[in-house]
Amino acid sequence: MHLLAGVGPARGKQLQRLGLNFARDILFFFPRDYQDMSVLQSIDTLQDNQPASICGTVEEIDLRNTGVGRTMLGVLIRQETHYLRALWFNQPYMRDKFTIGGRVMLSGTPKAKGPRWEMTHPRVEMLSAGDEPPSGKILPIYALTEGISQGLMRRIVAGTVAVYLECLEEVFPEEFLEQHQLLGIHETLDHIHRPVERAQLERAQHRLIYQELLVMQLALAQRRAHHRHASRAPRLEATAKIDARIKRLFPFQLTPGQLAAIDDIRADLVRKYPMNRLLQGDVGSGKTVVAEYAMLLAVAHGKQATIMAPTEVLARQHVHTLRNNLQESRVRIGLLTGSLKPAERRTTLAAIASGELDLVVGTHAVLQESVEFKDLGLVVIDEQHKFGVKQRMALRQAGPQPHYLVMTATPIPRTVTMSLYGDLDVSTLHETPPGRQNVHTYLSDESQRDKWWDFFRKKLLEGRQGYVITPLVDDSSTLELTSVTEAFEHLANGRLEAFRLDLVHGRQSPEEKDAAMDAFRTGETQVLVATSVVEVGVDVPNATLMTIENGERFGLAQLHQLRGRISRGVHPGYLCVFAEPGSDDSQQRLDAFCHTTDGFELAELDFQMRGPGDLFGAQQHGLPPLRIADLNRDAEVLTRARTDALDLIERDPELAAPAYRRLQRMVRVRYGEALDLGDVG
Ligand code: ADP
Ligand code: MG
Repeated sequence: MHLLAGVGPARGKQLQRLGLNFARDILFFFPRDYQDMSVLQSIDTLQDNQPASICGTVEEIDLRNTGVGRTMLGVLIRQETHYLRALWFNQPYMRDKFTIGGRVMLSGTPKAKGPRWEMTHPRVEMLSAGDEPPSGKILPIYALTEGISQGLMRRIVAGTVAVYLECLEEVFPEEFLEQHQLLGIHETLDHIHRPVERAQLERAQHRLIYQELLVMQLALAQRRAHHRHASRAPRLEATAKIDARIKRLFPFQLTPGQLAAIDDIRADLVRKYPMNRLLQGDVGSGKTVVAEYAMLLAVAHGKQATIMAPTEVLARQHVHTLRNNLQESRVRIGLLTGSLKPAERRTTLAAIASGELDLVVGTHAVLQESVEFKDLGLVVIDEQHKFGVKQRMALRQAGPQPHYLVMTATPIPRTVTMSLYGDLDVSTLHETPPGRQNVHTYLSDESQRDKWWDFFRKKLLEGRQGYVITPLVDDSSTLELTSVTEAFEHLANGRLEAFRLDLVHGRQSPEEKDAAMDAFRTGETQVLVATSVVEVGVDVPNATLMTIENGERFGLAQLHQLRGRISRGVHPGYLCVFAEPGSDDSQQRLDAFCHTTDGFELAELDFQMRGPGDLFGAQQHGLPPLRIADLNRDAEVLTRARTDALDLIERDPELAAPAYRRLQRMVRVRYGEALDLGDVG
């Protein structure tokens, strides 16, 4: 660091606090924002709500308390005979930045307040006496640390760029840059730190975004290629005879989508390397049958297969479906969940190890522990969207590998499929089985409650069944219990007095839950009062009614899952969400939910509203976070990067060509550990 002009040991320490140890770090220390001075205006030409920068003299400073712990700072700026008031709420420390008579420059969004202009929380640049306003410029704004001002940071970065930029090596070969119309790295970083105009800055940003996404896609493509070379899996051919024998077991005609997914899987399973496939489809699109087909194919070859469900309720439901479909066959099915008694567990584990069991249904938690199979041919991971690259890797073992089929709980935004699941092949079920009815969705307030329950009762009398869903109040299961039992008692002694009610919640023992689900499935219970434990995968086609209480407390994906519970049969579904949206966010969410029943559309909306950092956060999937790219904003660049990466890896799987040596090194440095690319390249 001391190699930099003007940076002594003390300053070096300060820079280290920002993670800046070498000149290189500074070159890649991207501004967190820019202050656009290219539109410096005079106050009398401002327009309401149009972002602008102005320059003027501080005329008045007024800091006042507006309540407990609340302040408002008003700074009056004069420019000849025109005035603008800048406002800061609850940032009293801003006061010290200003002195009366000082010259400042402000950027923000002006609002006309009567004859005067106001800007709330504008960006400020102090100008010293002789300073010309840096008009026409776009100023970078860096993250700072104590002792380093914005001006100093700009000088340090600019100095580093001037001296060291030339030493930086380009990772892309010349013709690659040309072919993809990318700026070279020197120009890129120069524009990033010293932009002269917007268009230039955007081209520079594009190059960096593209590079980051391409490196990720190269890593994923290499992982896939690597996996194919390194692992062996049993070849499981679906001969015409086996195929017919399996399909005969299903009580319905498969949809074209299901058949296509099965064909994808058949093609995967005759290869020598493990299948790694993601099966996505909206709620109720019939993913289970596809999984069942794959499992039975494994069993037909004398292998074991396992399906992992996220909840015990769902695991038991799978056992139930499988046993129903397999009544006539000799396939032996076992259940392995956390609630087995120690003796049962021992027996089951022994039966798995000896090969006595062909199909093992379990919960994720249990099956991730080292359960020993005699000869595992296929693993199905059901209803899981948090099952990222890392977790999938944890399941791998020595020797021949099983094939993998991952099924998602919710439709996944396209960009997420391309990134977090980028090492998987994808099959998508676009349509639902024929005869499926839409769900009528209503958003209601208290005034319509009586009407809704009249309707609910009428439908129950017609023979339908229904759910009443209460939210998990918070993480405390005691409160969950209160809200669900209260709702239950309230209804059982009131509006639904004449009907057979039961309740399911997270605090019950698995046996209790199971009994409640069974009674509901057989129709013995007419109404099930529940928390979101019924959210995932529960399948009772005669249930077509649902009331959701406190709808504002549910996420969009969760609401969609819940609605999926009542679109499973031949009768139309009716859902009423009672909600008191407290914020714009929850209003927007609920509106979107009522507007469409298309899960993929909702997934995209949810993603846009919540941002990529949230539900699909890269970290929890074991991938390093993106630093510049944003999966939401940069979907198009991602698509291009993916195509380009697949293309490159197809031609040169290890990126061994000398021209790509640096790019390959970058891939390994960034993703080598996360994706276990150790012996690649
Ligand atoms: P999900 O994709 O949400 O897991 P499921 O596999 O649970 O959906 O299927 C939903 C319902 O649709 C089940 O009741 C299942 O029996 C039924 N189903 C699946 N495929 C078909 C089909 N091809 N024709 C008719 N019903 C089907
Ligand atoms: Mg399912």
